[in-house]
Amino acid sequence: MSDLKIYWPESEPAATATESNDADIRAASNEPDIYSFAEWIDKLRSPESNRSALRAQRLNSNQTCPDCTRAGVLPLVLNDGRMDGSGRLVPGSATLVGFRCDSCSHEWSV
Ligand SMILES: [Zn+2]
Repeated sequence: MSDLKIYWPESEPAATATESNDADIRAASNEPDIYSFAEWIDKLRSPESNRSALRAQRLNSNQTCPDCTRAGVLPLVLNDGRMDGSGRLVPGSATLVGFRCDSCSHEWSV
């Protein structure tokens, strides 16, 4: 049986700054943590949670070279992506830093 309890959002009071101190005290006393729906919604609306959407938007807006207007554009990524079980890079997990034109070798950053 799981120790995770789910509460209905309307019955939950709004999160305050003093609750973080309460969470530290509860963690020290080994009491269960109560997760707030309001905090979760704030996390979903934060820019960091939309990283994949931002990446897709950048890929879409950089489909042609600004120098020669050809469509042969390759994304330039850092080597910080996640590896799957077979040791290959998970597509879309590496940091997108720029683009390179396959025709004229022009490079630009995002
Ligand atoms: Zn080009």
